[in-house]
Amino acid sequence: MRKVYLDHAGTTPLHPEVYSLICEFMKDTFGNPSSIHSYGREAKKWVDEARQQVADLIGAEREEIIFTGGGTEADNLAIIGAAAARHKKGNHIITSSIEHPAVLNSCKYLAKNGFEVTYLPVDGYGLVDPEELRKAIRPETILVTIMHANNEIGTIEPIEELSSIAREYDILFHTDAVQTAGRIPVNVKDLGVDLLTLSSHKMYGPKGVGALYKRKGVRLEPVIHGGGQEKKMRSGTENTAGIVGFGKAAEIAARDLDSEYKRTIELREKLVQGIIERIPDVKYNGHPERRLPHNVHFSFSYVEGESMLLSLDMKGIAASSGSACSSSSLKGSHVLEAIGLPYELIHGSLRMTLGRMNDAADIDYVLEVLPEVVARLRSFSPLANKLTV
Ligand SMILES: *Cc1c(COP(=O)(O)O)cnc(C)c1O
Repeated sequence: MRKVYLDHAGTTPLHPEVYSLICEFMKDTFGNPSSIHSYGREAKKWVDEARQQVADLIGAEREEIIFTGGGTEADNLAIIGAAAARHKKGNHIITSSIEHPAVLNSCKYLAKNGFEVTYLPVDGYGLVDPEELRKAIRPETILVTIMHANNEIGTIEPIEELSSIAREYDILFHTDAVQTAGRIPVNVKDLGVDLLTLSSHKMYGPKGVGALYKRKGVRLEPVIHGGGQEKKMRSGTENTAGIVGFGKAAEIAARDLDSEYKRTIELREKLVQGIIERIPDVKYNGHPERRLPHNVHFSFSYVEGESMLLSLDMKGIAASSGSACSSSSLKGSHVLEAIGLPYELIHGSLRMTLGRMNDAADIDYVLEVLPEVVARLRSFSPLANKLTV
């Protein structure tokens, strides 16, 4: 049976070049980068090179990269660290209603500890309106955190406009760029951000490693305390192999960005058009143009999302029901709720996210299997039968 992996927003496989480099590194480089002997210096050299590679991907300086234990930790450090460093200035934070749980739950934690949080609404495409941000700003606002692109519906937010408003009021701006890095150009200067989150395993690097870009001069309180690694911003002996792999993944992402972007968009359009042509009663979610190149998100009337996922999995196709993070809970996706999708469509939604391994034959296979799956599930639905007979 053909196997088609279409969950690249959930995680990506290691790039073969990343795998080779990690193996080479781990074979005999075991030093602690904080040690001053030759073993330590050798490990530090590798970590510094990776730091440069990650910095280069986003147009930053090497000194502005803090390695963390992943995207979630980088979001926590940005939000909780900024709040702790600025609490004397104010206690108000602005975010959007469609953030990743790493951001939403960091804000929730702060809300339990004396901070106030405003959740900006989004329109039907998932876009935040810059004017809504301006209206929400108060004298006590110390931080705005709005994601670069949404992990469920793929909508790319107008970060340049949003950050320039925050800058007018001298408010720190953080963006979670986990879904955009390596997929569309991400440049911290063009975006005008102070803090930016990256995760290695969303861009063909290993899991459990990520980074926070912290613009020179921005002050944060650490969240993890200890021996003072990563300029005191993230204590704990570095995950050297993970960092080395992440650096290589960043280098490859920058190298292949243009060609992968073009190739992925072609596949995406083939998949989207194919679904619209072959399956009635579907809704294409997210923005048609301001969209991640690899994201396809549909709602199918009269179909239950989990059944669709399981049927596809039996045919070798791995997709996601709206969001990888919420697939274990019965609660509908907060993102789909925020774009105003009716309850019934929320539960009939399917996210397919493309990646390097996918080709046109994969799309043909999905376009052969998916219409059959949807038709079969609809044939069991009393609602579908009542309405279409
Ligand atoms: C995956 C993801 C994260 C979390 O990153 P981890 O490295 O898995 O902790 C954060 N934000 C977004 C938008 C993501 O897609």
